Amino acid sequence: MTPITIAELVVRGAQQLAAAGVDSPDFDTSSLLASTLNIELNKIPLVRNEPVTPTAERLFTQRLKRRMKREPLQYVLGEIEFYGLPFKCDKRAMVPRPETETLVAAARDAIRTLEVRPVIADLGTGTGIIAVALACALPNARVYATDVSAEALALARENVQRQGLAARVTLLPPGQYLEPLDSSGVAGEVEVVVANPPYVETAQLDQLQPEISQFEPRIALDGGGDGLDFYRHLLPQCSALPRLCLLVLEVGQGQAEAVASIIRRQFPSGQLQVIPDLAHIERVVLAII
Ligand code: SAM
Ligand code: GLN
Repeated sequence: MTPITIAELVVRGAQQLAAAGVDSPDFDTSSLLASTLNIELNKIPLVRNEPVTPTAERLFTQRLKRRMKREPLQYVLGEIEFYGLPFKCDKRAMVPRPETETLVAAARDAIRTLEVRPVIADLGTGTGIIAVALACALPNARVYATDVSAEALALARENVQRQGLAARVTLLPPGQYLEPLDSSGVAGEVEVVVANPPYVETAQLDQLQPEISQFEPRIALDGGGDGLDFYRHLLPQCSALPRLCLLVLEVGQGQAEAVASIIRRQFPSGQLQVIPDLAHIERVVLAII
């Protein structure tokens, strides 16, 4: 029997993913195949007539089946790139979104102009992307990363270690809001608070695509009735951080004004800025305290 070629697998895989309702069947099939064969995605067309070994074909088929059940592509690949850095990605935490790079860039630039050391707290670190990206961008930064989920913290730890940042990025024991900073005795050091909190309205959760609603941790997404619970709980607690000078929060579409007014209530003299993402959606609220 002649072995199957890369081109044949791409066609067959894309048909199956399309039938399963996947949005980008060609891209996903090629990504799964490239990762299985350990080649770069853009090399696929160059090797399209090459045969695939039965072992690779079997592994590819297993991964394709996971994707057909609508498991997020990045969980199946086990990897994601964020801020130009590779991260391990699996069901222990939400898949990082590209718009969160807007938050990282805004925090980075503001910290540079403020000329603080800085000591940063990344609340709800998930995969650890924000903590790691800021530590990479700011060589003097010291980062405390928190999460309510012990599983997410375990994944974040792997990502911190992978980048060799364990000396500057500390994962605190699981806890909500500022509690991990308080109980570890480091709240007094924190100058910058960054967070991409859960901000989806509870009633919308089940309407999201299956990749999100059936596979990502609910605790990473559920922002309560109007999506703003996290901000409402967090902001009053922030007044107790003696050295706080910068807050950078990601928000959902249409939430920037509401979050800005929660911040203003707590910090009336803060200087606020709303920053759009690449899709021109108001995505980040930044406050210099
Ligand atoms: N920072 C990651 C990112 O940008 O991809 C993950 C963001 S995800 C939207 C929110 C994270 O906050 C989840 O990892 C979740 O477990 C965590 N979380 C939810 N409620 C929290 C709370 N009250 N205190 C601390 N972390 C919380
Ligand atoms: N951006 C995510 C979504 O649209 C939500 C992330 C969050 O709640 N922070 O599903």
